Amino acid sequence: MRNTELVLSKFSLGVGDRFAHQAPAQLKACRQAADQGFEVIPVWNKSNREHLIVGSKPDSVRAAADEAVRLAGWTKPYHVDADHINLKTVDGFLNSSDFYTIDVADWIGKPAEPAAVAAFTARHPELSGAASTAAKYMLAIQEAGQVYRHIKSRKAGVPFITEVSMDETDSPQTPPELLVILAAIADEGIPIQTIAPKFTGRFNKGVDYVGDAIQFEKEFSDDVAVVAHAVREYGLPASLKLSVHSGSDKFSIYGAIRRVLRKTGAGVHLKTAGTTWLEELIGLAEAGGDGLALAKEVYAEAFAMSDALCAPYASVIDIDAAKLPAPAAVNQWTSQQYVAALRHVPGCPEFNLHFRQLLHVGYKVAAHMEGRYLDMLKQHREIIAKNVTENLFDRHIRPLFLEA
Ligand SMILES: [Zn+2]
Repeated sequence: MRNTELVLSKFSLGVGDRFAHQAPAQLKACRQAADQGFEVIPVWNKSNREHLIVGSKPDSVRAAADEAVRLAGWTKPYHVDADHINLKTVDGFLNSSDFYTIDVADWIGKPAEPAAVAAFTARHPELSGAASTAAKYMLAIQEAGQVYRHIKSRKAGVPFITEVSMDETDSPQTPPELLVILAAIADEGIPIQTIAPKFTGRFNKGVDYVGDAIQFEKEFSDDVAVVAHAVREYGLPASLKLSVHSGSDKFSIYGAIRRVLRKTGAGVHLKTAGTTWLEELIGLAEAGGDGLALAKEVYAEAFAMSDALCAPYASVIDIDAAKLPAPAAVNQWTSQQYVAALRHVPGCPEFNLHFRQLLHVGYKVAAHMEGRYLDMLKQHREIIAKNVTENLFDRHIRPLFLEA
């Protein structure tokens, strides 16, 4: 398949910026990597769900990215990802995005036409025993094709990057299943550059990986081999690579990813730092005074409405309500206490992953504060930016790509 689309660079980071104020600080972390001779491309992503909760529009992500790039004089590529779109939601992203993550998880396991499955297995004698996998994923892949062709026709010649995501489903895809999926995607004529499978283990929002890191390394390595094989065998774009929808901050598998990438020479797209808004809260707390007061207010409000805030994220958070500090206690905290409880330093005794997860899904609270929250971001811009950049560089880019 000839790739007439935009070509995604070998290493790319999908980053979130809920309130569209941190793109310059995030870009600075990529600049720091470039200064060390390592090219990692930023991709700003925001799903329809986030837009609905924050009350923002896709165009705002593009505007923030363009402005950050202009201010920084960044001359390398960057992209804006319409994250987890489908046929119903994609149209709002057609102007602003040049990267589309087509989410077909809802179609996995739905019955496909037996004739389509039979045609697939006949076309692919090399994939022995693929019939049940093909039957499970065929409808999802046909749907991805429909969404891809819809985008292509609406973009009318404007190039874009296509990802297919299957991560928001119950069971992981094994490497042999991934090969069948990629063969079917090639047959469907989708020039995908990133594929996001669901990996084994828990990928909860904003906290570390829960699972067997050694098994993950084996699976990730096998998936990388499958991707390389599918590129050769089925003519998928040479830039095709895995996309890891990490849910942010999967520190304990960064070493595994780094080793596999080094060993194989493969690239990766890693979506992380959707927690950037927590760096805003950390910066505000660190600032003390009105900043700390606002950070406490956000927690108290999130605590009060925790059931409603957690509901849309129920499958990707594990909060033990008994381990959440009472708002009255938090109101007595110093800057240092608030920061230590929230900042993601897993070994730190004061770090509280329940507090962190609740605040992470609590961005709706800040969104409802509207101007009051955004004014505070502006007022404490520098201390927040420092946290955003350090987080992305020290806790993500460095361990993933730069460590020996
Ligand atoms: Zn995802």
